[in-house]
Parts: sequence; structure tokens; C-alpha cells
Amino acid sequence: MADRSAGSDPRKTASNWNERGVVSEVIEYKSWVCLICGWVYNEEEGRPDEGIAAGTRFVEIPDDWRCPLCDVGKADFVAVEF
Ligand SMILES: [Zn+2]
Repeated sequence: MADRSAGSDPRKTASNWNERGVVSEVIEYKSWVCLICGWVYNEEEGRPDEGIAAGTRFVEIPDDWRCPLCDVGKADFVAVEF
């Protein structure tokens, strides 16, 4: 005579919904570090004194742009994640 329906479950399994349908269009700025000298280009800050406005993506920088410290090209930069 086992009565398995007796007793109340203290853990309610009610309304556990996760609405993760929000598409995040937030574009995160990255920093790019020179592999040679370690100089960092910050997309959010840009290089205003070199004519590169704040918020300029690294990929949008002219290909002939060079590291201000060691004069290597863009190919020697890698993106760094925060
Ligand atoms: Zn460099």
C-alpha cells in the first residue's frame, strides 16, 4: 500500500521561463595589439591625432597604416579580447 502521491513537493516547478530571444546588436569594440612591440590600438578611442576617429574599426584603418612605435603593418596586429 505505497502511497506515492502523498506529501507536497516544497520545490515548486512553476514558471521557470527563460526568454533569451533578445538579439544583441551591440557591437563590441576591440583592442588590437602589435605583435612586435605590444602597442595597442583601441577601436573605441581611435587615433585622433593620426586622423583615425574614435570608434574606427581596425579593419577600417587604411592598409598602409603602420604601428606608430615599430612601423610594422596591420598584418602584425592581433585582436585581443577583454
Ligand atoms: Zn609595433
